[in-house]
Amino acid sequence: MGLLTNRVDRSEIKPGDHIYTYRAVFAYSHHGIFVGGSKVVHFTRVEGSSDAANEISGISSSCPIFPDCGFRLPNSGVVLSCLNCFLRNGSLYSFEYGVSPSVFLSKVRGGTCTTAVSDPPEMVIHRAMHLLQNGFGNYDVFQNNCEDFALYCKTGLLTLDRLGVGRSGQASSVVGAPLAALLSSPLKFLIPSPVGMATVTAGMYCMSRYATDIGVRSDVIKVAVEDLAVNLGWGRSNEGAIVEHDDSIHLLDR
Ligand SMILES: [Zn+2]
Repeated sequence: MGLLTNRVDRSEIKPGDHIYTYRAVFAYSHHGIFVGGSKVVHFTRVEGSSDAANEISGISSSCPIFPDCGFRLPNSGVVLSCLNCFLRNGSLYSFEYGVSPSVFLSKVRGGTCTTAVSDPPEMVIHRAMHLLQNGFGNYDVFQNNCEDFALYCKTGLLTLDRLGVGRSGQASSVVGAPLAALLSSPLKFLIPSPVGMATVTAGMYCMSRYATDIGVRSDVIKVAVEDLAVNLGWGRSNEGAIVEHDDSIHLLDR
């Protein structure tokens, strides 16, 4: 694995690894957790179950190899795919964890590594499989995306301001980091002197990515996967919640 690319061979990935591939000619990356047995658990948008949407998210309705490929709960965006369907014809990349800040800042593209440390693979796989069976909330409301999903499975970390700037490099490179977060970052002394606008701009871009990296932020909490629904206020929307009201019990069917 080189410094400037995280491209790996299939034989190099291990169960519990966070992998990704580029879709639509490097327009965006799609992330997932390799759980072994040629299977990947990843997060996609729930709505739009059309063939076109499935094509984009890598869900095959006619996988020639694995009958359980494309498995998902109704209304859940968490999908199990085989590696072939996840990658389609794309190249395989491995997301790096526990990188040093200097390596992190040297990465040209956002969303390829983090300074956060990965949990043991069995815990990562446990989270991925649990979320496959329980869902990962609403994609739009929580600004969850496939990278957030994989980051959570790897680290158990969630940012407190889930409605604000996203955790992932993909989100932060679009939204940008608030200046306050930038200035409170421990790297503020590294802001380069203005030797040229290009340098400053590139520096600011890297800084904003660094400031929003979950390994750096202080407003992150570790949440056990079993407590995820409670912490995010999802309730039990998938299985119906029992709520006491006016001395009677209603079964909410949502
Ligand atoms: Zn498949």
